[in-house]
Amino acid sequence: MRAEAVQDQEQAVEAAQERVDGTVAAASADAEHREAADTAVVGAAADSTRGSARDALVTAAEQARATLAASEGAVADDTVRQTLAAALAEADAALAADTASVATLRRVTSTTAAAQTATADAQAQWTQAQEQAAAAAARTPRPASTGGTTAAAAPPSCETTYTGPPFYTSPATEGGDGSNGKLPPSALAAISWDVDPRGTPYYLRTDAAAALERLNTAFRARFGHDLGLDLTYRDFATQVAMREALGTVAATPGTSSHGTGLALDVPELPCEYGWGTPQRDWLVANGPSYGWVVPSWARQNGSNPEYWHFEYRG
Ligand SMILES: [Zn+2]
Repeated sequence: MRAEAVQDQEQAVEAAQERVDGTVAAASADAEHREAADTAVVGAAADSTRGSARDALVTAAEQARATLAASEGAVADDTVRQTLAAALAEADAALAADTASVATLRRVTSTTAAAQTATADAQAQWTQAQEQAAAAAARTPRPASTGGTTAAAAPPSCETTYTGPPFYTSPATEGGDGSNGKLPPSALAAISWDVDPRGTPYYLRTDAAAALERLNTAFRARFGHDLGLDLTYRDFATQVAMREALGTVAATPGTSSHGTGLALDVPELPCEYGWGTPQRDWLVANGPSYGWVVPSWARQNGSNPEYWHFEYRG
């Protein structure tokens, strides 16, 4: 009996020990689970922060790409688009690199979004200016049809509208007395950015040339290139030759505004400077700020429409 009692006791102790072991194991497993769960929560939170930062950059890059494409040729100054392209390249690089930190993703998102907004704003301004120019052109009466042509309906062509013999701008008149077509070098200045096809500088009266330099700076800022020129100063001998060749379309020799160094002709290229082109509309709108105007006779509804002719009135 004693042996049985001992055996029972031993079994009881063994069972108790097993229960303790089981409880300890369970507690330990529980702790491991909790730890694993905690790690998973922290990791998920980090993944979610990085994921949302990355998502924001993906969205910003998509907008940037769309704006960059839509704004091509539709901003006054392409610098904003160049900045946007650089930001987009950085965004693409950050998205391609799995190691980009949350801080980097957020910074690139911010610069990309700012560049995108600046470009979109510049594009909106440009579009508004185009619409205003188009509205202004629509208000300008069409010229009376000349010679049976319907040029107004034809699309702008870049073939010259000039059909006469070639004439060139004139050098200063050595020993000139200062009258029309006889301006001495001291009365004239050459414009800085171009010469005519024969290498003759484009001369204008000194004050008109200085004003045109300022006008050209603004023109270049708007269009990205210098103002085109065809003829400026025209000496008396050339006025005589033009009158003989062209008849009354050319001014009576000694009366041309080109003879006083106060007129210029832009190239007779209708797609560039013709009626209703952005370039001509800009010149008509902005030229007067620099003293350069279109005389009433040269306007589209004037007595001798010449879209290429501008005069300096100071
Ligand atoms: Zn002219």
